[in-house]
Amino acid sequence: MIKFDHVSKAYGENTVVKDISFEIKEGEFFVLIGPSGSGKTTTLKMINRLIELTDGYIYFKGRPISEYQLDEMRWDIGYVLQQIALFPHMTIRENMMQVPLMKKWPTKKIEDEVNRLLNMVGLDAETYKNRYPDELSGGQQQRVGVVRALMADPPLVLMDEPFSALDPISREKLQDDLLKLQNEIHKTIVFVTHDIGEALKLGDRICLMNEGKIEQIDTPEGFINHPKNEFVQSFMGDYLNTHKYARNVMNQDVTPVEISVQASDPIQVVYDHLAKVPKINVIESNKIIGSITQQDVIRSLSQEG
Ligand code: ADP
Repeated sequence: MIKFDHVSKAYGENTVVKDISFEIKEGEFFVLIGPSGSGKTTTLKMINRLIELTDGYIYFKGRPISEYQLDEMRWDIGYVLQQIALFPHMTIRENMMQVPLMKKWPTKKIEDEVNRLLNMVGLDAETYKNRYPDELSGGQQQRVGVVRALMADPPLVLMDEPFSALDPISREKLQDDLLKLQNEIHKTIVFVTHDIGEALKLGDRICLMNEGKIEQIDTPEGFINHPKNEFVQSFMGDYLNTHKYARNVMNQDVTPVEISVQASDPIQVVYDHLAKVPKINVIESNKIIGSITQQDVIRSLSQEG
């Protein structure tokens, strides 16, 4: 669906994306993560030519993006920003209608799509579609931002930290809704975040960037079990160590296995074991109080949002 072929971006002397190559498959939820300034947003915006690349090629559906008409391409690529820019003087319905109108969809089809998508993200269409943006909460507006990007049925949706301005509870709820939605619509999604929990929860694959280069592209499991180098390890490790202990992720299974950790051990210790064995016990006061498998760890980290 998308292919980066030795792509670079420079601002004057400063090369901020350095010769990156990778592919994103159709239907994939692809997350770009990395420290601030690592080039995530630049990479994302080069896809729909909001930023022109300096070197290399990006292919969208097999054709170099430079060959597309800008309008044609932007209609085919949904875009969601951190601060959702709904038009304040238009109702929710009118906000959602703009791209399909430009594509000359019939009115009935547009109305049906407004209703369907609003309902799909838990906003009762009858209640909300004729309201104005400032009559909705931040979380609700962001929901509208997400479905607005889907209105004209684009095969590809780009999302730039869409949930980072929300409080943790709304954020988690929207992540859940987006996952549910994605299970139904199977779009190709490229999603920028700096939140590892969010990346692990949402991504089919995650691309970790650092100083304009790619450190690792892998599944969430791959990042946890096989960090490719020290940078990846410490990027993941800082998060894992500060976030959880063995007791936070265990299940209730007390069947003894060979390897065990203390309930108060940091999660990194748990990982080190789970890289070698499928299951470990958790011990407190010399008693087995539960077990941990890889699945337990991934599930619990994701819940962190
Ligand atoms: P991230 O999204 O990972 O935080 P960005 O892609 O936004 O990183 O930025 C990567 C680097 O490019 C940063 O060092 C940033 O300062 C620089 N940069 C971004 N936009 C411009 C610009 N218009 N002019 C010059 N430098 C820029």
